[in-house]
Amino acid sequence: MERVAERENRDPDSVREQVADGQAVIPANRHHESLDPMIIGREFATKVNANIGNSETTSDLETELEKLHTAVHYGADTVMDLGTGSDLDEIREAHIAHSPVPIGTVPLYEAVKQAGSPEAITKDLLLEIIEKQAEQGVDYMTIHAGILAEHLPLTDGRKTGIVSRGGSIMASWMEAHGEQNPLYQDFPEICEIFAEHDVTFSLGDSLRPGCLADACDEAQYAELDTLGELTRVGWDHGVQVMVEGPGHVPMHKVAENVERQQEVCDGAPFYVLGPLVTDIAPGYDHITSAIGAAMAAQAGAAMLCYVTPKEHLGLPEEEDVRDGLAAYRIAAHAADVGTERPGARDWDDALSEARYAFDWREQFALALDPDRARSFHDQTLPGDNYKEARFCSMCGAEFCSMRIDQDARETGDMDSLEGEGEGTDLEASPAAEVNRPPVGTHAAGDLPPMADHEGVDALEEAGDD
Ligand code: SF4
Repeated sequence: MERVAERENRDPDSVREQVADGQAVIPANRHHESLDPMIIGREFATKVNANIGNSETTSDLETELEKLHTAVHYGADTVMDLGTGSDLDEIREAHIAHSPVPIGTVPLYEAVKQAGSPEAITKDLLLEIIEKQAEQGVDYMTIHAGILAEHLPLTDGRKTGIVSRGGSIMASWMEAHGEQNPLYQDFPEICEIFAEHDVTFSLGDSLRPGCLADACDEAQYAELDTLGELTRVGWDHGVQVMVEGPGHVPMHKVAENVERQQEVCDGAPFYVLGPLVTDIAPGYDHITSAIGAAMAAQAGAAMLCYVTPKEHLGLPEEEDVRDGLAAYRIAAHAADVGTERPGARDWDDALSEARYAFDWREQFALALDPDRARSFHDQTLPGDNYKEARFCSMCGAEFCSMRIDQDARETGDMDSLEGEGEGTDLEASPAAEVNRPPVGTHAAGDLPPMADHEGVDALEEAGDD
Protein backbone atom coordinates (compact mmCIF):
# COMPACT_ATOMS: atom_id res chain seq x y z
CA MET A 1 0.00 0.00 0.00
CA GLU A 2 2.89 2.35 0.71
CA ARG A 3 4.44 1.61 -2.66
CA VAL A 4 1.09 2.11 -4.40
CA ALA A 5 0.62 5.40 -2.55
CA GLU A 6 4.06 6.53 -3.71
CA ARG A 7 3.24 5.70 -7.33
CA GLU A 8 -0.11 7.48 -7.12
CA ASN A 9 1.26 10.44 -5.16
CA ARG A 10 -1.33 9.72 -2.48
CA ASP A 11 -1.52 9.16 1.21
CA PRO A 12 -1.19 5.43 2.18
CA ASP A 13 -4.24 5.70 4.43
CA SER A 14 -6.47 6.64 1.50
CA VAL A 15 -5.14 3.64 -0.42
CA ARG A 16 -5.94 1.34 2.48
CA GLU A 17 -9.43 2.77 2.90
CA GLN A 18 -10.27 2.37 -0.79
CA VAL A 19 -9.08 -1.25 -0.79
CA ALA A 20 -10.86 -2.07 2.47
CA ASP A 21 -14.09 -0.64 1.04
CA GLY A 22 -13.76 -2.71 -2.14
CA GLN A 23 -13.54 0.48 -4.21
CA ALA A 24 -10.03 -0.37 -5.44
CA VAL A 25 -7.90 -3.49 -5.88
CA ILE A 26 -4.17 -4.17 -5.69
CA PRO A 27 -3.71 -7.37 -7.71
CA ALA A 28 -0.71 -8.92 -5.98
CA ASN A 29 -0.44 -12.67 -5.59
CA ARG A 30 1.78 -13.43 -2.63
CA HIS A 31 3.94 -15.68 -4.86
CA HIS A 32 4.64 -12.98 -7.49
CA GLU A 33 8.00 -11.79 -6.22
CA SER A 34 9.03 -9.53 -9.13
CA LEU A 35 5.84 -7.47 -8.83
CA ASP A 36 5.90 -3.71 -8.44
CA PRO A 37 2.41 -3.22 -6.97
CA MET A 38 -0.19 -0.97 -8.59
CA ILE A 39 -3.78 -0.08 -7.85
CA ILE A 40 -6.99 -0.12 -9.87
CA GLY A 41 -9.88 2.04 -8.72
CA ARG A 42 -11.89 5.01 -9.90
CA GLU A 43 -10.25 7.29 -7.31
CA PHE A 44 -6.84 6.56 -8.79
CA ALA A 45 -5.17 7.20 -12.16
CA THR A 46 -6.77 5.22 -14.98
CA LYS A 47 -4.89 2.04 -15.83
CA VAL A 48 -4.41 0.10 -19.06
CA ASN A 49 -4.20 -3.65 -19.62
CA ALA A 50 -2.60 -5.36 -22.62
CA ASN A 51 -3.46 -8.89 -23.66
CA ILE A 52 -0.70 -11.18 -24.86
CA GLY A 53 -0.39 -14.95 -25.24
CA ASN A 54 0.25 -17.62 -27.77
CA SER A 55 -2.19 -19.45 -29.99
CA GLU A 56 -2.23 -22.84 -31.66
CA THR A 57 -0.20 -21.43 -34.53
CA THR A 58 2.44 -19.36 -32.73
CA SER A 59 4.10 -20.55 -29.61
CA ASP A 60 7.53 -20.34 -28.04
CA LEU A 61 8.87 -19.07 -24.76
CA GLU A 62 11.21 -16.48 -26.22
CA THR A 63 8.47 -14.89 -28.32
CA GLU A 64 6.12 -14.80 -25.36
CA LEU A 65 8.70 -13.11 -23.14
CA GLU A 66 9.32 -10.60 -25.88
CA LYS A 67 5.59 -9.85 -26.02
CA LEU A 68 5.57 -9.22 -22.28
CA HIS A 69 8.54 -6.92 -22.66
CA THR A 70 6.90 -5.03 -25.54
CA ALA A 71 3.66 -4.57 -23.61
CA VAL A 72 5.38 -3.24 -20.49
CA HIS A 73 7.74 -1.08 -22.55
CA TYR A 74 4.84 0.66 -24.27
CA GLY A 75 2.99 1.28 -21.05
CA ALA A 76 0.81 -1.64 -20.00
CA ASP A 77 -0.06 -1.40 -16.29
CA THR A 78 -1.17 -5.03 -16.23
CA VAL A 79 -0.80 -7.86 -18.73
CA MET A 80 -3.21 -10.70 -19.35
CA ASP A 81 -1.69 -13.95 -20.59
CA LEU A 82 -4.46 -15.35 -22.76
CA GLY A 83 -2.34 -18.15 -24.20
CA THR A 84 -4.15 -21.10 -25.72
CA GLY A 85 -1.20 -22.80 -27.43
CA SER A 86 1.37 -25.21 -26.02
CA ASP A 87 3.69 -24.97 -22.97
CA LEU A 88 1.14 -22.89 -21.09
CA ASP A 89 2.62 -23.65 -17.64
CA GLU A 90 6.19 -22.88 -18.67
CA ILE A 91 5.20 -19.62 -20.34
CA ARG A 92 2.96 -18.52 -17.47
CA GLU A 93 5.69 -19.20 -14.91
CA ALA A 94 8.22 -17.26 -17.01
CA HIS A 95 5.83 -14.33 -17.37
CA ILE A 96 5.28 -14.20 -13.62
CA ALA A 97 8.99 -14.56 -12.87
CA HIS A 98 9.88 -11.64 -15.16
CA SER A 99 6.93 -9.32 -14.89
CA PRO A 100 6.94 -6.16 -12.77
CA VAL A 101 3.24 -5.70 -13.60
CA PRO A 102 0.36 -7.88 -12.41
CA ILE A 103 -0.36 -10.90 -14.59
CA GLY A 104 -3.94 -11.92 -15.27
CA THR A 105 -5.25 -15.13 -16.81
CA VAL A 106 -8.45 -16.87 -17.88
CA PRO A 107 -8.19 -20.36 -16.33
CA LEU A 108 -11.07 -21.59 -18.45
CA TYR A 109 -8.85 -21.56 -21.53
CA GLU A 110 -6.44 -24.02 -19.97
CA ALA A 111 -9.38 -26.16 -18.84
CA VAL A 112 -10.59 -26.46 -22.44
CA LYS A 113 -7.08 -27.31 -23.61
CA GLN A 114 -6.75 -30.07 -21.03
CA ALA A 115 -10.26 -31.45 -21.38
CA GLY A 116 -10.22 -31.37 -25.18
CA SER A 117 -13.59 -29.64 -25.55
CA PRO A 118 -15.87 -27.32 -23.52
CA GLU A 119 -18.30 -30.16 -22.81
CA ALA A 120 -15.55 -32.41 -21.39
CA ILE A 121 -14.57 -29.92 -18.67
CA THR A 122 -15.29 -31.16 -15.14
CA LYS A 123 -15.85 -29.14 -11.98
CA ASP A 124 -12.79 -30.76 -10.39
CA LEU A 125 -10.63 -29.82 -13.35
CA LEU A 126 -11.71 -26.19 -13.11
CA LEU A 127 -10.83 -25.96 -9.42
CA GLU A 128 -7.57 -27.82 -9.96
CA ILE A 129 -6.43 -25.40 -12.68
CA ILE A 130 -7.51 -22.33 -10.72
CA GLU A 131 -5.57 -23.56 -7.68
CA LYS A 132 -2.48 -24.37 -9.76
CA GLN A 133 -2.46 -20.94 -11.38
CA ALA A 134 -2.93 -19.31 -7.97
CA GLU A 135 0.07 -21.23 -6.67
CA GLN A 136 2.09 -20.16 -9.72
CA GLY A 137 1.56 -16.51 -8.78
CA VAL A 138 -1.20 -15.25 -11.10
CA ASP A 139 -2.35 -11.91 -9.69
CA TYR A 140 -5.87 -11.81 -11.07
CA MET A 141 -8.09 -14.24 -12.92
CA THR A 142 -11.09 -13.74 -15.13
CA ILE A 143 -13.76 -16.06 -13.77
CA HIS A 144 -16.84 -16.50 -15.95
CA ALA A 145 -19.19 -17.19 -13.06
CA GLY A 146 -21.85 -14.61 -13.90
CA ILE A 147 -23.39 -16.34 -16.92
CA LEU A 148 -26.25 -18.54 -15.72
CA ALA A 149 -28.36 -21.15 -17.49
CA GLU A 150 -31.41 -18.89 -17.25
CA HIS A 151 -29.54 -16.11 -19.10
CA LEU A 152 -28.93 -18.15 -22.25
CA PRO A 153 -32.40 -17.72 -23.83
CA LEU A 154 -32.01 -13.96 -23.41
CA THR A 155 -29.33 -14.00 -26.10
CA ASP A 156 -31.61 -15.52 -28.75
CA GLY A 157 -32.55 -12.27 -30.44
CA ARG A 158 -29.02 -10.94 -30.64
CA LYS A 159 -27.17 -10.13 -33.83
CA THR A 160 -23.86 -11.64 -32.69
CA GLY A 161 -24.81 -14.06 -29.91
CA ILE A 162 -22.19 -14.67 -27.21
CA VAL A 163 -18.83 -13.19 -28.21
CA SER A 164 -16.84 -13.72 -25.02
CA ARG A 165 -14.65 -16.80 -25.46
CA GLY A 166 -15.19 -17.83 -21.85
CA GLY A 167 -18.89 -17.08 -22.13
CA SER A 168 -19.31 -19.24 -25.19
CA ILE A 169 -17.43 -22.08 -23.47
CA MET A 170 -19.61 -21.94 -20.34
CA ALA A 171 -22.80 -21.65 -22.41
CA SER A 172 -21.77 -24.68 -24.41
CA TRP A 173 -21.06 -26.60 -21.17
CA MET A 174 -24.43 -25.70 -19.65
CA GLU A 175 -26.28 -26.64 -22.84
CA ALA A 176 -24.49 -29.99 -23.03
CA HIS A 177 -24.97 -30.92 -19.36
CA GLY A 178 -28.30 -29.26 -18.63
CA GLU A 179 -26.79 -27.93 -15.40
CA GLN A 180 -25.98 -24.58 -13.82
CA ASN A 181 -22.61 -22.89 -14.42
CA PRO A 182 -20.09 -24.75 -12.19
CA LEU A 183 -18.05 -21.57 -11.71
CA TYR A 184 -21.14 -20.00 -10.14
CA GLN A 185 -21.96 -23.04 -8.05
CA ASP A 186 -18.39 -23.47 -6.84
CA PHE A 187 -17.77 -19.76 -6.36
CA PRO A 188 -17.24 -20.03 -2.56
CA GLU A 189 -14.53 -22.67 -3.11
CA ILE A 190 -12.85 -20.42 -5.67
CA CYS A 191 -13.00 -17.58 -3.13
CA GLU A 192 -11.16 -19.73 -0.61
CA ILE A 193 -8.37 -20.46 -3.09
CA PHE A 194 -8.15 -16.76 -3.98
CA ALA A 195 -8.05 -15.72 -0.33
CA GLU A 196 -5.23 -18.16 0.42
CA HIS A 197 -2.96 -16.90 -2.37
CA ASP A 198 -4.27 -13.33 -2.55
CA VAL A 199 -5.63 -13.53 -6.07
CA THR A 200 -8.01 -10.81 -7.26
CA PHE A 201 -11.23 -11.58 -9.07
CA SER A 202 -11.83 -10.10 -12.48
CA LEU A 203 -15.46 -11.16 -12.87
CA GLY A 204 -15.89 -11.94 -16.55
CA ASP A 205 -18.72 -10.41 -18.57
CA SER A 206 -19.58 -13.48 -20.60
CA LEU A 207 -22.65 -11.82 -22.12
CA ARG A 208 -21.03 -8.59 -23.18
CA PRO A 209 -22.42 -7.24 -26.43
CA GLY A 210 -20.46 -8.07 -29.57
CA CYS A 211 -22.04 -5.29 -31.61
CA LEU A 212 -23.85 -2.01 -31.08
CA ALA A 213 -27.24 -3.62 -31.70
CA ASP A 214 -26.77 -5.96 -28.71
CA ALA A 215 -25.53 -3.32 -26.27
CA CYS A 216 -27.38 -2.89 -22.97
CA ASP A 217 -29.79 -5.73 -23.69
CA GLU A 218 -31.53 -7.93 -21.17
CA ALA A 219 -28.85 -10.61 -21.31
CA GLN A 220 -26.02 -8.18 -20.55
CA TYR A 221 -27.80 -6.56 -17.64
CA ALA A 222 -29.09 -9.87 -16.22
CA GLU A 223 -25.51 -11.08 -16.02
CA LEU A 224 -24.43 -7.78 -14.48
CA ASP A 225 -26.90 -8.37 -11.63
CA THR A 226 -25.25 -11.75 -10.99
CA LEU A 227 -21.82 -10.08 -11.06
CA GLY A 228 -23.06 -7.70 -8.37
CA GLU A 229 -24.13 -10.66 -6.23
CA LEU A 230 -20.76 -12.39 -6.76
CA THR A 231 -18.88 -9.20 -5.92
CA ARG A 232 -20.44 -9.28 -2.45
CA VAL A 233 -19.68 -13.01 -2.06
CA GLY A 234 -16.04 -12.30 -2.92
CA TRP A 235 -15.89 -9.46 -0.40
CA ASP A 236 -17.45 -11.69 2.27
CA HIS A 237 -14.50 -14.04 1.77
CA GLY A 238 -11.99 -11.20 2.06
CA VAL A 239 -11.12 -11.33 -1.65
CA GLN A 240 -10.53 -8.31 -3.87
CA VAL A 241 -12.94 -7.97 -6.79
CA MET A 242 -13.07 -6.03 -10.03
CA VAL A 243 -15.74 -6.45 -12.68
CA GLU A 244 -15.30 -6.66 -16.44
CA GLY A 245 -17.45 -4.70 -18.88
CA PRO A 246 -18.27 -4.33 -22.55
CA GLY A 247 -17.49 -4.60 -25.47
CA HIS A 248 -19.40 -2.71 -28.17
CA VAL A 249 -21.50 0.24 -26.93
CA PRO A 250 -22.68 3.36 -28.79
CA MET A 251 -21.38 6.62 -27.39
CA HIS A 252 -24.68 7.71 -25.87
CA LYS A 253 -24.81 4.56 -23.73
CA VAL A 254 -21.22 4.37 -22.46
CA ALA A 255 -21.75 6.42 -19.30
CA GLU A 256 -24.99 4.54 -18.57
CA ASN A 257 -23.03 1.27 -18.59
CA VAL A 258 -20.46 2.54 -16.13
CA GLU A 259 -23.01 4.11 -13.81
CA ARG A 260 -25.12 0.95 -13.78
CA GLN A 261 -22.12 -1.27 -13.00
CA GLN A 262 -21.02 1.04 -10.20
CA GLU A 263 -24.48 0.92 -8.69
CA VAL A 264 -25.09 -2.83 -9.10
CA CYS A 265 -21.59 -3.81 -7.93
CA ASP A 266 -21.38 -1.32 -5.04
CA GLY A 267 -18.48 0.61 -6.56
CA ALA A 268 -16.18 -2.37 -7.31
CA PRO A 269 -13.62 -1.25 -9.93
CA PHE A 270 -14.89 -1.50 -13.50
CA TYR A 271 -12.45 -2.95 -16.05
CA VAL A 272 -13.74 -2.34 -19.55
CA LEU A 273 -12.80 -3.71 -22.95
CA GLY A 274 -12.97 -0.58 -25.07
CA PRO A 275 -15.89 -0.27 -25.67
CA LEU A 276 -15.97 0.07 -29.44
CA VAL A 277 -18.37 2.89 -30.28
CA THR A 278 -18.94 1.83 -33.88
CA ASP A 279 -18.70 -1.50 -35.71
CA ILE A 280 -17.70 -0.21 -39.15
CA ALA A 281 -13.93 0.00 -38.91
CA PRO A 282 -12.09 -3.33 -38.77
CA GLY A 283 -8.40 -2.48 -38.99
CA TYR A 284 -8.93 0.66 -36.89
CA ASP A 285 -10.59 -0.78 -33.80
CA HIS A 286 -7.86 0.61 -31.53
CA ILE A 287 -9.44 3.98 -32.47
CA THR A 288 -13.13 2.99 -32.36
CA SER A 289 -12.54 1.46 -28.93
CA ALA A 290 -10.21 4.13 -27.50
CA ILE A 291 -13.01 6.66 -28.00
CA GLY A 292 -15.33 4.51 -25.88
CA ALA A 293 -12.54 3.78 -23.39
CA ALA A 294 -11.90 7.49 -22.82
CA MET A 295 -15.61 8.07 -22.28
CA ALA A 296 -15.86 5.09 -19.91
CA ALA A 297 -12.88 6.29 -17.88
CA GLN A 298 -14.36 9.78 -17.74
CA ALA A 299 -17.55 8.20 -16.37
CA GLY A 300 -15.68 6.19 -13.70
CA ALA A 301 -14.16 3.04 -15.25
CA ALA A 302 -10.90 2.21 -13.49
CA MET A 303 -8.98 0.12 -16.03
CA LEU A 304 -9.13 -0.07 -19.82
CA CYS A 305 -8.31 -3.28 -21.66
CA TYR A 306 -6.58 -2.28 -24.85
CA VAL A 307 -7.74 -3.24 -28.30
CA THR A 308 -5.28 -3.37 -31.18
CA PRO A 309 -5.82 -2.59 -34.88
CA LYS A 310 -5.91 -6.38 -35.42
CA GLU A 311 -9.09 -6.82 -33.34
CA HIS A 312 -11.56 -9.12 -35.12
CA LEU A 313 -8.92 -9.82 -37.78
CA GLY A 314 -5.89 -11.65 -36.38
CA LEU A 315 -3.32 -12.11 -33.62
CA PRO A 316 -1.59 -8.77 -32.91
CA GLU A 317 2.10 -8.33 -33.68
CA GLU A 318 4.56 -5.96 -32.03
CA GLU A 319 3.55 -2.89 -34.05
CA ASP A 320 -0.12 -3.59 -33.27
CA VAL A 321 0.67 -3.80 -29.55
CA ARG A 322 2.48 -0.47 -29.80
CA ASP A 323 -0.45 1.19 -31.61
CA GLY A 324 -3.03 -0.32 -29.26
CA LEU A 325 -1.16 0.78 -26.15
CA ALA A 326 -0.61 4.28 -27.52
CA ALA A 327 -4.34 4.61 -28.20
CA TYR A 328 -5.19 3.42 -24.70
CA ARG A 329 -2.59 5.46 -22.86
CA ILE A 330 -4.06 8.47 -24.64
CA ALA A 331 -7.59 7.47 -23.60
CA ALA A 332 -6.53 6.91 -19.97
CA HIS A 333 -4.55 10.14 -19.75
CA ALA A 334 -7.24 12.19 -21.48
CA ALA A 335 -9.76 10.93 -18.93
CA ASP A 336 -7.40 11.68 -16.04
CA VAL A 337 -7.08 15.23 -17.34
CA GLY A 338 -10.83 15.37 -17.95
CA THR A 339 -11.61 14.29 -14.40
CA GLU A 340 -9.08 16.85 -13.11
CA ARG A 341 -6.87 14.45 -11.22
CA PRO A 342 -4.18 16.45 -9.40
CA GLY A 343 -1.30 17.28 -11.72
CA ALA A 344 -2.58 15.16 -14.60
CA ARG A 345 -2.34 18.08 -17.05
CA ASP A 346 1.23 18.99 -16.11
CA TRP A 347 2.59 16.63 -18.74
CA ASP A 348 0.46 18.35 -21.40
CA ASP A 349 1.63 21.75 -20.21
CA ALA A 350 5.31 20.77 -20.28
CA LEU A 351 5.00 19.44 -23.81
CA SER A 352 3.11 22.53 -24.97
CA GLU A 353 5.81 24.77 -23.54
CA ALA A 354 8.50 22.83 -25.41
CA ARG A 355 6.40 23.05 -28.57
CA TYR A 356 5.96 26.81 -28.35
CA ALA A 357 9.66 27.21 -27.62
CA PHE A 358 10.54 25.15 -30.74
CA ASP A 359 12.56 22.88 -28.45
CA TRP A 360 12.16 19.87 -30.69
CA ARG A 361 14.39 17.55 -28.66
CA GLU A 362 12.42 18.25 -25.51
CA GLN A 363 9.17 17.82 -27.42
CA PHE A 364 10.29 14.37 -28.60
CA ALA A 365 11.48 13.40 -25.11
CA LEU A 366 8.13 14.35 -23.59
CA ALA A 367 6.07 12.65 -26.30
CA LEU A 368 3.98 9.61 -25.47
CA ASP A 369 6.00 7.72 -28.08
CA PRO A 370 9.30 9.61 -28.47
CA ASP A 371 10.58 7.36 -31.24
CA ARG A 372 7.51 7.92 -33.36
CA ALA A 373 7.45 11.68 -32.80
CA ARG A 374 11.11 12.00 -33.75
CA SER A 375 10.87 9.75 -36.78
CA PHE A 376 7.80 11.57 -38.16
CA HIS A 377 9.54 14.92 -37.76
CA ASP A 378 12.77 13.67 -39.28
CA GLN A 379 11.07 12.16 -42.31
CA THR A 380 11.07 15.63 -43.88
CA LEU A 381 13.55 17.63 -41.80
CA PRO A 382 16.22 15.19 -40.66
CA GLY A 383 19.15 17.56 -40.19
CA ASP A 384 20.41 18.55 -36.75
CA ASN A 385 19.94 22.22 -37.69
CA TYR A 386 16.19 21.65 -37.81
CA LYS A 387 16.11 20.66 -34.14
CA GLU A 388 16.04 24.36 -33.26
CA ALA A 389 14.10 25.47 -36.34
CA ARG A 390 11.16 27.82 -35.80
CA PHE A 391 8.90 25.73 -38.03
CA CYS A 392 8.33 22.19 -39.21
CA SER A 393 7.25 20.88 -42.59
CA MET A 394 3.56 20.98 -41.72
CA CYS A 395 3.04 24.70 -42.37
CA GLY A 396 6.58 25.52 -43.50
CA ALA A 397 8.80 28.44 -42.47
CA GLU A 398 6.64 31.12 -44.03
CA PHE A 399 3.32 30.01 -42.58
CA CYS A 400 4.37 28.69 -39.16
CA SER A 401 1.68 30.25 -36.96
CA MET A 402 3.67 29.96 -33.74
CA ARG A 403 6.66 31.72 -35.36
CA ILE A 404 4.36 34.43 -36.77
CA ASP A 405 2.72 34.85 -33.34
CA GLN A 406 6.08 35.18 -31.60
CA ASP A 407 7.37 37.68 -34.16
CA ALA A 408 4.19 39.72 -33.81
CA ARG A 409 4.61 39.79 -30.05
CA GLU A 410 8.15 41.07 -30.44
CA THR A 411 7.22 43.88 -32.82
CA GLY A 412 3.72 44.81 -31.65
CA ASP A 413 1.87 45.52 -28.43
CA MET A 414 1.10 41.93 -27.43
CA ASP A 415 3.09 40.57 -24.51
CA SER A 416 5.82 38.09 -25.22
CA LEU A 417 5.07 34.65 -23.79
CA GLU A 418 8.60 33.34 -24.07
CA GLY A 419 10.43 33.15 -20.77
CA GLU A 420 7.34 33.94 -18.76
CA GLY A 421 7.03 31.96 -15.55
CA GLU A 422 9.21 29.07 -14.52
CA GLY A 423 7.70 26.47 -16.83
CA THR A 424 6.18 23.22 -15.66
CA ASP A 425 8.37 21.15 -13.36
CA LEU A 426 7.34 17.55 -13.89
CA GLU A 427 9.58 16.39 -11.06
CA ALA A 428 7.46 18.42 -8.66
CA SER A 429 4.14 17.44 -10.25
CA PRO A 430 1.57 15.85 -7.93
CA ALA A 431 0.48 13.62 -10.83
CA ALA A 432 0.39 9.85 -10.51
CA GLU A 433 3.34 8.00 -12.06
CA VAL A 434 1.31 6.93 -15.11
CA ASN A 435 0.53 10.57 -15.88
CA ARG A 436 4.18 11.60 -16.11
CA PRO A 437 6.68 10.75 -18.84
CA PRO A 438 8.28 8.46 -19.81
CA VAL A 439 5.23 6.49 -20.76
CA GLY A 440 4.53 3.33 -18.90
CA THR A 441 5.23 2.44 -15.34
CA HIS A 442 8.66 1.04 -16.06
CA ALA A 443 11.40 2.24 -18.40
CA ALA A 444 12.81 -0.63 -20.44
CA GLY A 445 16.01 -0.55 -18.40
CA ASP A 446 14.09 -1.24 -15.18
CA LEU A 447 12.60 -4.49 -16.39
CA PRO A 448 13.92 -7.69 -14.85
CA PRO A 449 16.46 -9.61 -16.94
CA MET A 450 14.93 -11.06 -20.04
CA ALA A 451 15.85 -13.83 -22.42
CA ASP A 452 18.85 -12.66 -24.38
CA HIS A 453 17.98 -12.27 -28.01
CA GLU A 454 18.00 -9.77 -30.80
CA GLY A 455 14.39 -8.63 -30.60
CA VAL A 456 14.50 -7.63 -26.94
CA ASP A 457 17.94 -6.04 -27.28
CA ALA A 458 16.77 -3.95 -30.23
CA LEU A 459 13.73 -2.87 -28.28
CA GLU A 460 15.80 -1.85 -25.27
CA GLU A 461 18.21 0.12 -27.42
CA ALA A 462 15.32 1.94 -29.06
CA GLY A 463 13.87 2.69 -25.62
CA ASP A 464 17.20 3.88 -24.17
CA ASP A 465 17.74 6.14 -27.15
S1 SF4 B 1 5.04 24.86 -38.88
FE1 SF4 B 1 2.92 24.65 -38.15
S2 SF4 B 1 2.87 22.60 -37.20
FE2 SF4 B 1 5.03 23.16 -37.47
S3 SF4 B 1 5.63 24.13 -35.55
FE3 SF4 B 1 4.92 25.81 -36.86
S4 SF4 B 1 2.74 26.00 -36.37
FE4 SF4 B 1 3.37 24.03 -35.56
